[in-house]
Amino acid sequence: MVFNIDSSQSNIRLWQYLSGMTGIKRLLYLRGSQGMKVSKRAESIPPSATMAVTARAKELIAEGVDVVSFGAGEPDFDTPDYIKNAAIEAMKSGKTKYTATPGIPALRKAISAKLKKDNGLDYPPEQIIVNIGAKHSVYESMQAVLDEGDEVILPCPYWVTYPETIKLAGATSKVVQTDRANSYKMTARQLADAITDKTAMLLLNSPSNPGGFCYTPDELAELAKVLEGTDIMVLSDEIYEQLIYGDTKFVSFAALSDDAFGRTITINGFSKAFAMTGWRLGYTAGPLEVIKAMGRLQSHMTQNAVAFAQEAAVIALDDPNGEVEKMRIQFEQRARYMAERLNAIEGVVCPEPTGAFYCFPDVSEHYGRTIGGAKIGGSLDFAKVLLEKANVAVVPGVPFGCDRNVRLSFACSKEQIAKGIDRLEKWLKS
Ligand code: PMP
Repeated sequence: MVFNIDSSQSNIRLWQYLSGMTGIKRLLYLRGSQGMKVSKRAESIPPSATMAVTARAKELIAEGVDVVSFGAGEPDFDTPDYIKNAAIEAMKSGKTKYTATPGIPALRKAISAKLKKDNGLDYPPEQIIVNIGAKHSVYESMQAVLDEGDEVILPCPYWVTYPETIKLAGATSKVVQTDRANSYKMTARQLADAITDKTAMLLLNSPSNPGGFCYTPDELAELAKVLEGTDIMVLSDEIYEQLIYGDTKFVSFAALSDDAFGRTITINGFSKAFAMTGWRLGYTAGPLEVIKAMGRLQSHMTQNAVAFAQEAAVIALDDPNGEVEKMRIQFEQRARYMAERLNAIEGVVCPEPTGAFYCFPDVSEHYGRTIGGAKIGGSLDFAKVLLEKANVAVVPGVPFGCDRNVRLSFACSKEQIAKGIDRLEKWLKS
């Protein structure tokens, strides 16, 4: 048997579903284009489901179909000019060579100052490593601290990449189902119940992908209390930190107490707040031994983030004209609008996102129905039929661990949101 798809079965199923791969085509995909052997490790990892939806939507657009895409996991804004200009200047002045593995000193210093100013965290530059996107930070930090047999507590819904990076580090995900009534946030009781003698890490992502859910400082403090007296690490993915709405208050997990600081690996980056997804710049701050271990791994894997991108990132953090805030305001308006529109649709329930740029409505009341002639069994059918019949791209909830829901990104104009939700509403009535 060629396939070894274990817990990722649903993602593989999703990919086949959206790309129409079957039989020999699927086999060749998993075996490599020449039918060549690929490792069991690689076989067990499906491509990112969010990328699969975007790819199918792009195919339809290339065929001339007018698709409204809510699939994107990146800002629709362009990188602000002051950052682009800094990169051009850096390139012209010869910043085109290898840099130190953990990043140029100026950037580590600037990140250290940012973490102090915005987050009240005292990480000296030696405790910071610049990575090639926060996705790389997640992968590399897990490779640095997890061993075979370790368990990672993973609140569900979760970002699609976490279970795969946990598996690649030889560890196991201990998935904790959360409740819609609590905006899909894990409670202290749920955390306490999930801990075993194998628990090595708790993974936290606030504001979250897929739902833009934010833990309050009090909720985080309750979680931190549960961990006191244990040797459980926390990986706190704070990539959406600057995109928060309403009266939401952001607090870094590591800033809660000395105890929390000592056990936390803090991850952040430039992709989301600065609209720099293509620049591939993320960073990790944490205990010195962890950062050093990541540096050793990185020195053999990727070496350093792009030299002139690092130079531009130093300038990005200055943000002299408040560009991040301008984008945040637009996201905030869209968050409110999209959630309002979704909640006005019968059989759709969407906790309002208080951060990031996603809505994650529960659409399961429509499962079991036949819509426009097609039977809807779950989120995979929902997303596929909605795309094919109404030309609206959403991401099914399955790869986020939540089949009752679908994810809609509002990283697109208000006009597109209005058009897409109109179509969704009409399709649900068909
Ligand atoms: N963490 C979360 C929760 C994300 O949603 C993403 C991007 N989708 C990342 C990390 C990675 O961001 P990047 O690699 O672009 O820095």
